[in-house]
Amino acid sequence: MLRVRGSASRAQLAAGTRLSRATISEIAADLRRSGLIVRSQGGSSGRRAGRIPELLTLNPDFGVIVGVEFSHTRVTVIATDATHRIIGSKTRDHDREEPWPQRLGSAVGFIDALVPSRAPLIAIGFGVPGAIAGRAGVLAGIARQLTERYGVPVRSENNARLAGLAEFSWGAGQDMNDLIYVRLSEGVGGLLILDDEPRLGTTGAAGEFGHVCLDPNGPVCRCTNRGCLEAYVGLRTVLSRAGAESVNALRDALDRDEPRAHAVVADAGARIGLVLANACSVLDVSSVVLGGPFTQVGDHLLRIVRQSIMRHAHSGSADGLRIRLAELGSVDGALGGVALVLRDHTIPLAIPATSASKRSEEARTA
Ligand SMILES: [Zn+2]
Repeated sequence: MLRVRGSASRAQLAAGTRLSRATISEIAADLRRSGLIVRSQGGSSGRRAGRIPELLTLNPDFGVIVGVEFSHTRVTVIATDATHRIIGSKTRDHDREEPWPQRLGSAVGFIDALVPSRAPLIAIGFGVPGAIAGRAGVLAGIARQLTERYGVPVRSENNARLAGLAEFSWGAGQDMNDLIYVRLSEGVGGLLILDDEPRLGTTGAAGEFGHVCLDPNGPVCRCTNRGCLEAYVGLRTVLSRAGAESVNALRDALDRDEPRAHAVVADAGARIGLVLANACSVLDVSSVVLGGPFTQVGDHLLRIVRQSIMRHAHSGSADGLRIRLAELGSVDGALGGVALVLRDHTIPLAIPATSASKRSEEARTA
């Protein structure tokens, strides 16, 4: 629970594990003595300390977890400790044609710069765009080179699903048990969370909202089917229809009430809403989170998507449905790499190498 939540009070741990408060206190005392968990550093302090329940976290001295996102045009790396505290992040934009060795070289340079020399690296989670199944070669190549260089566990996932995992862990979906996350970028992907668990499906491709068919006779999609959502609302398609050079330019045009921009966004928003309405009717989730660069136009898009969902979803599933914009910005995919590592219980978080941290914790306790 502390891996996934970052920090929690004993009462929260008892509720989440369905163990008694007494059992949790006993386990927590044991783990604190062995230096595995510590009192939250960012938690209560000063005169109110006595009134706020003490929060526990994993020991930040375990080391550093790294998340990497390779998007079509950007490499982003973020580093955190086991308590979810962000140590730093770095990013670089590049051409679409940039070869993979250069992208990987950027990531390695960022990792070397971000991981402090005294702190051990625990694991790396990374994401790439597109269907994971079709990218086995790229994924295996990156994973092999990172493993050889750093000697730590490396995990990978589609970058839209990683962004959704990050929003579920720390962003707009963190108070939700069920959610549909959709990432609106050049491609349209997403993640499905049901009963607090990401659902990946049989082949790991669940959440591909971009390839829901809206019209069997519609335009050809890059997946070779016709009339997919992505063929209508992929970011490049939207920008070219609106005659805008960038998302910022599109937002400016919307702010100036330019009819062409409004018509394009209204059409895209209605289609996105229709697909999400159908998904909500089938899955009966409590919330929808919209992320990705297209959402930088903000309320202009959110309002139309919301209207469309409310209009088309089955009334039972639309009642009380929360529809929000993502909160984590452009580091969402890289942060999702960290979440992937934290949620993977086959990856051990190292025991502190020195007894120094144990001693200092004992001193703090005393
Ligand atoms: Zn398609």
